[in-house]
Amino acid sequence: RASVGPKYLAGLNPEQREAVETLDGPVLVLAGAGTGKTRVLTTRIAHILSQGRARPAEILSVTFTNKAAREMKHRLGQMLGHAVEGMPWLGTFHSIGGRILRIHAELAQLKSNFTVLDVDDQVRLLKQLLQAENIDEKRWPARMLAGLIDGWKNRGLMPSQVPSGEAAMFANGKGGKLYASYQERLKILNAADFGDLLLENIRIFREHPDILRQYQQRFKFILVDEYQDTNVAQYLWLRLLSQAPSSSSSLPGLTRQSIASSEDGSPGLDASRRPGDDEQDNAAPAPLGEKAPTKNICCVGDDDQSIYGWRGAEVDNILRFEHDFPGAKVIRLERNYRSTGHILAAASHLIAHNEGRLGKTLRTEDQDGEKVTVTGSWDSEEEARGIGEEIEQLQRQGEKLNEIAILVRASYQMREFEDRFVTLGLPYRVIGGPRFYERAEIRDALAYLRVINSPADDLAFERIVNTPKRGLGDATVQMLHDHARKRRIPLFEAARAVVETDELKPKARGSLRDLVAQFDRWRAQREVTAHTDLAQIVLDESGYTEMWQKDRSADAAGRLENLKELVRSMEEFENLQGFLEHISLVMDREGGAEDDAVSLMTLHSAKGLEFDNVFLPGWEEGLFPSQRTLDEQGRAGLEEERRLGHVGLTRARRRAKIYFATNRRIHGTWSTTIPSRFLDELPAANVEITESKGGSGWGGSGGYGASRFDDMEAFGSSYSTPGWQRAQANRNRGGGRSGGFEEEAATFSSSSSGPDFGSFSSRRR
Ligand code: ATP
Ligand code: MG
Repeated sequence: RASVGPKYLAGLNPEQREAVETLDGPVLVLAGAGTGKTRVLTTRIAHILSQGRARPAEILSVTFTNKAAREMKHRLGQMLGHAVEGMPWLGTFHSIGGRILRIHAELAQLKSNFTVLDVDDQVRLLKQLLQAENIDEKRWPARMLAGLIDGWKNRGLMPSQVPSGEAAMFANGKGGKLYASYQERLKILNAADFGDLLLENIRIFREHPDILRQYQQRFKFILVDEYQDTNVAQYLWLRLLSQAPSSSSSLPGLTRQSIASSEDGSPGLDASRRPGDDEQDNAAPAPLGEKAPTKNICCVGDDDQSIYGWRGAEVDNILRFEHDFPGAKVIRLERNYRSTGHILAAASHLIAHNEGRLGKTLRTEDQDGEKVTVTGSWDSEEEARGIGEEIEQLQRQGEKLNEIAILVRASYQMREFEDRFVTLGLPYRVIGGPRFYERAEIRDALAYLRVINSPADDLAFERIVNTPKRGLGDATVQMLHDHARKRRIPLFEAARAVVETDELKPKARGSLRDLVAQFDRWRAQREVTAHTDLAQIVLDESGYTEMWQKDRSADAAGRLENLKELVRSMEEFENLQGFLEHISLVMDREGGAEDDAVSLMTLHSAKGLEFDNVFLPGWEEGLFPSQRTLDEQGRAGLEEERRLGHVGLTRARRRAKIYFATNRRIHGTWSTTIPSRFLDELPAANVEITESKGGSGWGGSGGYGASRFDDMEAFGSSYSTPGWQRAQANRNRGGGRSGGFEEEAATFSSSSSGPDFGSFSSRRR
């Protein structure tokens, strides 16, 4: 094959080039991390466009995040040498599904300006439905129902299709009925949840073959990144769109133009698009209806990076591709262009411990580079201090902060790093989720503390006056506002005054009086009680802790864990005032440090990304792998954790640095932890043990940490476990779990997996 061709093809290896140039028929690129799958997809689009095989608006291209979509567009521009206008169908499943749904909203009994609900809205709505049905929310929490409905939607199931066995899982068989009335309520509210964005597409496509056909004709090429993490609904949607339209392909009155014109009326999704863009593209379109488009679908993925099983992703989709798309060409890429030799070897060795995988070779022509380091610390604080120092050192060596990432297993781990970075004045950004102090439960808790600290803090008071519910609704708050305005006093003082009058109904009045009295008491206690204790007292006495305890739902456990972490973080400050000042400093950092900053994110959010330097803290049993997977029967969960570790390591170009702490505070008490089994599974030849730079004397002595040095492959048998540590670890076993630990509810925007461990009760060996 002649290697001359457009510039963008230069530099591709033969397999990559084949994946780019095989434009007709289904193509699956099944290849490991860093082999250029995403690059192949981008180049393929460039090729399609420059060959005139389709116009930008005729390419459906699915990325994993909106950020990835923007990046792809940017790269395309670089490859083609000019900015690419009008790729309206380049985005995530949700953004594209939402776009299509807005065009045909009326077929889903919605208006095109429908609202997309987030998880909190969803739960609020479900609570109302449960009340209306007289279902005890304590036994059957709305969040649990939200999780079930989400799961059904991920599997493409309409209310009528929910298997009766599963409907029975909620409120004695009412699950399916509640799902149906939830859907009805959504229509009345002109709203959709994330699941609907695809599910309603699927329904419309099935019920209106003419509409499906329009899209089948329109999308001449379909490309999907991270195919290993598609769920059933996404798969069904892709299947529908990728079929060649049936023979009666040209339908009078329903031309591509009719899609294009309604598209332009759809708000929000692509502001850069102007009416008529479609017609200005220079690529010559094939005439409509003349030749039925073939199934030109190209999916790329890696079964070893499937990490969303807990959210309904089905790795089988990738394994079944050849069966589902007969005649598919399967292309494997084996050269990794991202990581140096030691990193790649370590990652490959780790993932080789999984049984359920296709198995593949990965090689690099890069140098071996630096070994993967494994560093033990005394506790998580020392870990954060050590990483902070290493980052500063890298910075002194001229490394860009943009090329440094910290990837955590559970989002609460971020708090310690955020605090450390603020202290060091090191710019950072949190990717894929709210920063620790911006989480709803943390803001609520802080609001209580702010009102104690400053009774004039109206915003804080308003936030918690009816959280948890105390029967102080909008009307009461409105009245307090009126009162406060008239007398020019803070809301809190207005409340104190109002309870002395009979302006409020007796119940609300009693409730407000109690709240005022509580705050007075807490303020008095402040003088005699340590601020950390006070915070705990406030959370407990206000009923706030209880609110989440009763909420036995997917993410409640994570929120309780975050609250504990908040109280713990206060220990580092002398008093409440000092703590709150620190918080306002942290919160104030929004925006500013965007140029060059360390990235902080969960392993889940790191998919597809790459950095020169990757820090991987918290490799301990019960945290990573998570306790939930340790408690589980079977290997599936554990193998998914291992894939997560593999994803983490393969994000690194030049340096991968793993950490574990010997002590970590879980549920408010310190526990001795055991280094992650994944450390055992790293190859000795590619790993180096180093000492923590955050050492506090003892920590640097070298005899700490890896309690299983004796059986760590990486470390041979030259170390043995200190006896005291075994004893301590034993003591810490057997604590009961507080139940209900599941992954944080899967919000679309935050792919964090949430804190999900209990005590260290179940261990290997
Ligand atoms: P992941 O599975 O982690 O998503 P991937 O297979 O999508 O990885 P890419 O992100 O596309 O891999 O590529 C990894 C890195 O290798 C990128 O920096 C990319 O630019 C580079 N790369 C890919 N192919 C080549 C090539 N032929 N020559 C030089 N660099 C390449
Ligand atoms: Mg990729």
